[in-house]
Amino acid sequence: MWISCFFRLQTVDKKGKISLCALQTLILRWKKTARLRRCSQGAAERKGIQMKIIMLGAPGAGKGTQAKMIAEKYAVPHVSTGDIFRANIKNGTELGMEAKKYMDQGQLVPDELTVKILLDRVAQPDCKNGYVLDGFPRTIPQAQVLDKALSELGDAIDYAINVDVPDENIVRRMSGRRACLGCGATYHVEHIPPKKEGICDVCGQNLVLRDDDKPETVLNRLKVYHDQTQPLIDFYNEKGVLKTVDGTVDSKDVFAAIVAILS
Ligand SMILES: [Zn+2]
Repeated sequence: MWISCFFRLQTVDKKGKISLCALQTLILRWKKTARLRRCSQGAAERKGIQMKIIMLGAPGAGKGTQAKMIAEKYAVPHVSTGDIFRANIKNGTELGMEAKKYMDQGQLVPDELTVKILLDRVAQPDCKNGYVLDGFPRTIPQAQVLDKALSELGDAIDYAINVDVPDENIVRRMSGRRACLGCGATYHVEHIPPKKEGICDVCGQNLVLRDDDKPETVLNRLKVYHDQTQPLIDFYNEKGVLKTVDGTVDSKDVFAAIVAILS
């Protein structure tokens, strides 16, 4: 283009060749801008496709912490089913009222309804580049309902990130927790010990091991996890989207491993 432009400069009379050359330069610039615009749109779409994530891992494995960190780094919403249920009920939406009927009767909300509420949330504009699902699915039937509903939209989960921590580590982590019932401060005998053993730094009350953190409670929750949720590891492995990270290391290192997978 530049060569032909130069050639014309030499051959045509002065006024004509300058305007012709300027026109060609303008066309060139316009083509370049259009090409750049197409490239950046493609990148955004690719990024969007890659960021629909579900978190797997035993209770206490730290997947909630990782979900929040992923959401922050990649600017995608952290979608917790508990939060969207509460929001729908508070706002009195049709789906929220339907869910409330079951909850008021002490029944479990059917998986189909939960998935409807979830899809309604992820259809919001802030989820256009993806989302991190936390707390759902927890069972194979839930995963199947979600999978079917997404595929009807021509969609699918891109990554199922399994934060892997052996049971004994989880029991040790949880049973080391201490809480102050006076001010709500929390401690850990190994990682965040109070200045004086068994006493709250903030208000001076005695620290307790909450029922939720007692080994027998933790082991019960782990049993439910192994029976109901762990089969999801195979489910997502067969779909080719499972990524397992070692959850026994420091949470910053767990996150670095996740970022390496997503990048
Ligand atoms: Zn306290």
